[in-house]
Amino acid sequence: MNFTKTFSIIVACIALSVGAAAASPGAPSISYQEALTKLKEGNVRFVSGKHQHTGDSMEVVKMLAAGQKPYAIILTCSDSRLSPELLFDTGLGDLFVIRVAGNVTDPIILGSIEYAAEHLGTPLVIVLGHEKCGAVKATVELKGKGEGNIGAIVKAIRPALKKTKSEGKISEKDNAQFVEAVADANIALVKATLTDKSKVLKHLVDSDKVKIVAAKYHIDHGEVVMMD
Ligand SMILES: [Zn+2]
Repeated sequence: MNFTKTFSIIVACIALSVGAAAASPGAPSISYQEALTKLKEGNVRFVSGKHQHTGDSMEVVKMLAAGQKPYAIILTCSDSRLSPELLFDTGLGDLFVIRVAGNVTDPIILGSIEYAAEHLGTPLVIVLGHEKCGAVKATVELKGKGEGNIGAIVKAIRPALKKTKSEGKISEKDNAQFVEAVADANIALVKATLTDKSKVLKHLVDSDKVKIVAAKYHIDHGEVVMMD
């Protein structure tokens, strides 16, 4: 390990230790505006090939064992082709990530988000969908009806299918565009569900302690587009 790398790790450890000591449980380490700016800047680095995080060191792993203070919660799809840590060029301990096919939600996922927002003091939630989502495509192909556990995912995305159909802006015959419209509707509906179904999140949002943002990433080049 060279001197520069060693020095960077020591500085990072000191900064994180000071941050952890200064921030009480439930208090954010940074504002949601700062968190959003960091993520946007990280995505610009990733898209331009200038990413800085290529895997954190064992020193950082050991330091984080003392506690976590992630600055953003990411609810995103399980799709293997990209990951939020890469998309936003973040390191260990930065993001509290929930991955589920179709970036849908349920009480367990809501509970996970509530935990990070309330107890870890994470100020920013991003509902992050993506282009060419297999779960959304399956929902369109199955007309919102599915069997078994995969059917449960289809059922969760069905309101977005219904909404897109009822709006009638895009014909189902234009399949690729229609699937993207359903994906967009799903992201927006899931975002709304976070405060509709969680009193904890609604209170945090209403009191301006937490911001929820809808976003979608391009599968072919990784650019994240904020939808709000
Ligand atoms: Zn997906």
